Amino acid sequence: MGLGRSLLLAAAASDRLRRMANGSRVVRRATRAFMPGETVEAALDAGRRLIEMDGRGLLFTHLGEALTTLGEAQRVRDHYLDLLDRLRAAGVPGEISVKPTQLGLDQSPQRCAELAAELADRAHVVGSVPWLDMEDSSCVDRTLDLYESLKVDYPQTGLALQAYLRRTPTDLERLAPLGPVVRLVKGAYSEPPEVAFPRKADTDRAFREVALRMMELASKGRRGEGPPSRAVLGTHDLLLVGRIQAEGRARGLPPDALEVHMLFGIRANQQARLRSEGQAVSTLISYGQDWYRWYMRRLAERPANVWFVARSIFG
Ligand SMILES: Cc1cc2nc3c(=O)[nH]c(=O)nc-3n(C[C@H](O)[C@H](O)[C@H](O)COP(=O)(O)OP(=O)(O)OC[C@H]3O[C@@H](n4cnc5c(N)ncnc54)[C@H](O)[C@@H]3O)c2cc1C
Repeated sequence: MGLGRSLLLAAAASDRLRRMANGSRVVRRATRAFMPGETVEAALDAGRRLIEMDGRGLLFTHLGEALTTLGEAQRVRDHYLDLLDRLRAAGVPGEISVKPTQLGLDQSPQRCAELAAELADRAHVVGSVPWLDMEDSSCVDRTLDLYESLKVDYPQTGLALQAYLRRTPTDLERLAPLGPVVRLVKGAYSEPPEVAFPRKADTDRAFREVALRMMELASKGRRGEGPPSRAVLGTHDLLLVGRIQAEGRARGLPPDALEVHMLFGIRANQQARLRSEGQAVSTLISYGQDWYRWYMRRLAERPANVWFVARSIFG
């Protein structure tokens, strides 16, 4: 892992820096590159504009993590229930993406499962889909258990898996009989080398292999030879997406078995280009006041972004 990335991920964990960043109007303004605003209204407006532009899919995430009480988790549940109702009322088709720790995974896995089931139920009623994000490696076993329990009644539920984790191919096989609805991402946390590949090349190779297996499962599902599943690539690495599409074609897997999810504001022109080529693309829109850790991970993904922020602060 590069020094810039390690420093930014370490800064993401600092409460002192978080307080300083939150208090700075200029830093808050700089976050606008990756989030349209802190409120639901700002997120919905941005989503509406993207739909009007090219009819792409949308996902919404209310930022926040590391809760300390179940009361806070219930407030997060209430927020998403309200968001789902507002999406329906506004006629904005959108899915939601939730961090299990925001629903109390660390405090009570059982209560977290109840709250997640309430969200999945409301999502089902309003025609939406709930996704579970994957957080640091200490959460993976509990998140997989949570996912399996949700899949029983809400099979459309999706889950993020991280290609940098050595265990991910095994985890995907564990989920294969359930018809996994998986968004494969590279992985955004600081992990030790025995848990995650330290080299980007190894993560990219693992990403390709896991993605092809996901495509295989999705096309089997379409042919009725297995349970329905979805293969989603959550990445801005379009070279890698192109390679996976080509390799999939060579193996006889239909290219439309793949979907791409990308983050609001990142490679926005490429998102529009992919969409204009007929690729199923969704944009994940994050919003909320608790943006500091999430924002620092975005900077760590591309330390060159720090210059972008510095430019916007110092003019
Ligand atoms: C929809 C979605 C959901 C995600 N959910 C999770 C999750 O649940 N758990 C998790 O651990 N991680 C999640 N991530 C983050 C992911 O793990 C990566 O950290 C992130 O996507 C950056 O990696 P990349 O795949 O884009 O590839 P990279 O190889 O890092 O980047 C490829 C290219 O994309 C561009 N790019 C990438 N990131 C940025 C950026 N921040 N700013 C500007 N340009 C950039 C650059 O041009 C770069 O060369 C998610 C990502 C997406 C898109």
